[in-house]
Amino acid sequence: MKYKRILLKLSGEALMGKRQYGIDPERLSEYAQDIKTITDQGVEVAIVIGGGNIFRGVAGASNGMDRVQGDHMGMLATVINGLALQSALEDAGIQTRLQTAIKIDEVAEPFIRRKAMNHLSKGRVVIFGGGTGNPYFTTDSAAVLRAIEIEADVILKGTRVDGIYNVDPEKDTTAVKFDHITFDDVLRKGLKVMDTTAFTLSQENNLPIIVFDMNTPGNLLKVVSGETIGTEVNF
Ligand code: UDP
Repeated sequence: MKYKRILLKLSGEALMGKRQYGIDPERLSEYAQDIKTITDQGVEVAIVIGGGNIFRGVAGASNGMDRVQGDHMGMLATVINGLALQSALEDAGIQTRLQTAIKIDEVAEPFIRRKAMNHLSKGRVVIFGGGTGNPYFTTDSAAVLRAIEIEADVILKGTRVDGIYNVDPEKDTTAVKFDHITFDDVLRKGLKVMDTTAFTLSQENNLPIIVFDMNTPGNLLKVVSGETIGTEVNF
């Protein structure tokens, strides 16, 4: 395997599968199987999960809700997704721990870096819920932050598109995908990989990002073993 320790970022929307809202159990169990394939190979896996399938603070604010209140709801949504993912992983025979950035003691461990690293080294999958624990951030920022903290080799951003294109492939059929692209080129070309805070944090800490299609079973193993699928953002 090319990578020993990875941080997998899954968006909340990815968990919807074909639904319009909420969580699709089939999609969850597909993800769990894919994750099991790589943990069986000895890869250490940490996961940051989004909450957009349930609630986004910005959406709340645009309907007149207090933004911070909305962000707290969004962070709790990521914990709901984390619990669902934890269940699916445990069903697949994987040992897991859910750690949250906001304390919910009866439900999950609080985020403690050294504990998280210890779990990983014992082969447990660690799911980080609650984002960064602060409003006005995103789970992409949480993913980069946690990846740096736990000294992950790479961030794998699993999405429904298979990489980064020069123009939006869902709107323009002439779109061309990059296999590799530098952080500088992403900025120069104005491409969207993550929000700016998350992207800059990754760049400043020399942490590569691979964007790939997580919805094709087997892709996660390919990425971790070093096959060029998706787009790698590097230096
Ligand atoms: N959120 C937050 N702080 C964080 C991470 C998330 O306030 O550190 C809130 C924010 O309201 C966000 C929501 O949680 O809209 C869900 O996260 P995100 O939009 O990143 O989820 P995704 O798009 O990955 O599903």
